[in-house]
Amino acid sequence: MTGRTHDLAAFTAVSYVAVTHTLEPMSLATLIVSFTACMVGGLAPDIDQPTADLWHRLPAGGIIGRIFTPFLGGHRFISHSILGIFIFGFLARMLLDFMAPVVLVNMTIVWWAFMIGFLSHLVMDTFTREAVPWLFPIPIHIGIPPFKALRIKTGSMVEKSIVFPGLLLLTFWIYYANYHKVLDFLRHYIK
Ligand SMILES: [Zn+2]
Repeated sequence: MTGRTHDLAAFTAVSYVAVTHTLEPMSLATLIVSFTACMVGGLAPDIDQPTADLWHRLPAGGIIGRIFTPFLGGHRFISHSILGIFIFGFLARMLLDFMAPVVLVNMTIVWWAFMIGFLSHLVMDTFTREAVPWLFPIPIHIGIPPFKALRIKTGSMVEKSIVFPGLLLLTFWIYYANYHKVLDFLRHYIK
């Protein structure tokens, strides 16, 4: 999937989780940082791909990406697996705890938002031709549906004309169906 689709999928996922759970009151800063963390999480697994949108969004990212990515083993490697979820989750938690005394937001909420974005990426990639090595280091790529030819090609018409608009509709529906809950949250839970 392209970076654009991953961004949207991360947003859809975090929106769904937010409306289906009872959230605790949080500051506006926490809300904004959490959404940002979710978007970063939604692109983070492609850290193993020098051409990834993630790298192009960073200054000099293209060059850094090419230096850094061989150590992660090429596209769809450790960062696209259950093991990767634990490693990135652990590293993100350490980084956030380190920043906690300086950045005054609820880091637990920010961490969850990052992880939701991260997981949404792996789920979306599962529907693509390359599939996902969920069980790394066991070298099998797991995809849905199981037949490669039926899966989505990254950047293809199917992704652009069905997957992306489908996610967009789903996101609108999530907010539309939970309109009162969202309003109530914004009014009473944002400090
Ligand atoms: Zn990916």
